[in-house]
Amino acid sequence: MNRAELSHRLNARIEAGASSFAVMLVRVQRLQEFRLVHGYEASDAVGRAACERIRELLRPQDELDQVAENEFIVLLPGLMNPGHAMLAATRAVRAFETPLLFAQHAVMTPVAVGVALFPEHGNDATTLLRRAEIALRDAKRLSERCALYSPGTERAMVPYEWLHDALRTNRLEAHFEPILDLRRNAVCGYESLARWHDPDGGPIRPDVFIRLAEDTGLIAELTRWSLNATFRHAAAIRSSEQRLRFSVNISPRVFGQRDLVQQITGALAVWDMPPDAVTLEVTESALMEDPLTSIAMLHTLRDAGLAISIDDFGAGYSSLAYLKQLPATELKIDRSFVADMRHDLRSARVVRAIIDLGHQLDLQVVAEGVEDAETLEVLRALGCDRAQGYHIGRSTPASFLLDRVAPA
Ligand code: C2E
Ligand code: CA
Ligand code: CA
Repeated sequence: MNRAELSHRLNARIEAGASSFAVMLVRVQRLQEFRLVHGYEASDAVGRAACERIRELLRPQDELDQVAENEFIVLLPGLMNPGHAMLAATRAVRAFETPLLFAQHAVMTPVAVGVALFPEHGNDATTLLRRAEIALRDAKRLSERCALYSPGTERAMVPYEWLHDALRTNRLEAHFEPILDLRRNAVCGYESLARWHDPDGGPIRPDVFIRLAEDTGLIAELTRWSLNATFRHAAAIRSSEQRLRFSVNISPRVFGQRDLVQQITGALAVWDMPPDAVTLEVTESALMEDPLTSIAMLHTLRDAGLAISIDDFGAGYSSLAYLKQLPATELKIDRSFVADMRHDLRSARVVRAIIDLGHQLDLQVVAEGVEDAETLEVLRALGCDRAQGYHIGRSTPASFLLDRVAPA
């Protein structure tokens, strides 16, 4: 069953005067990784085993559909209250804490579950499915791995056409945030951050449009834009300050692209940027969604001479076993720990532990989100290598920076 058919059925149910029901979206993790190791047939078999495992949890009146290799949607009719829907979601998460058995293999495939309720969270299939998806994203960040849609967490929605158009007409802008070398006490480079000011919609937050790009496939174009915009300005700035390094955020959604390495090395060549002046930042949580693909891709990029930073480190649920295998050069401590370290002893201890861990693994450690002098001094005392954040400097349009570094 595809999504269109499912939407149709859902809408028909609503039009027929359905009473309350829940839409539960279950996404099975690590299937991609399994497919890479064991092939398509094996991952299909695991998908079928996952489907069976979900079916075992359901009541006769519940309806289960597999809508993608790793994705299932369950309609739960006649629920008395949201608590019952969450009970079903919790049971699904628990059920996958025991490995699936496939041929000789026991496969651990954790799931994340998002739930939206009719009529509370939407009156049509599209809204309900989208909100179940939003809940699932929230769930991924929680240790319970399941969540009910909560209206406050919905991000502003931007039409696809706007972003498509902004990319086509080159209306996004690269801003650079300074990074301080704590030993030299001097700016040693910049992180490139995308900014978008839509003529009708005003400023649109990067996490909103990056997500949109990831969901719609526009991320390939956004990445191409980001690499070129960053290197273009970086090359110009470096012509007067050759020691400066530049960091670019890369979404792991583009790791599947065959020509990614070529695209990056091609953009470096066009702007005459040395690869060793560039760091690619990839978030920890995204890396862990599909560690094997990520590790392979990062090795290729590292071999091409680029540095690799693990962004938002500490915020995701990561596996130290994988961390050891990642060809990273840098850990970037998630800013939630840095922000709390002045007031919260535990956060300060986490920061200290990450710095030590990074150094044990021969990685440089960067703290982001430094908002005051005191935090900066503690980080320096703890041996942190670099820092960035509002206290050091806000991001500014790359073109302004160029005027400052290299006055015409
Ligand atoms: P990130 O890579 O973790 O970027 C750091 C974010 O923290 C930026 O938010 C930055 O403006 C903000 N920030 C910097 N200093 C401070 C501080 O002292 N306090 C606080 N509270 N925040 C601080 P921004 O620009 O909104 O970017 C959000 C995310 O969007 C980035 O998180 C990054 O993951 C993504 N992103 C931004 N530009 C791009 C891009 O060109 N490509 C891709 N793939 N992702 C991008
Ligand atoms: Ca970053
Ligand atoms: Ca970050």
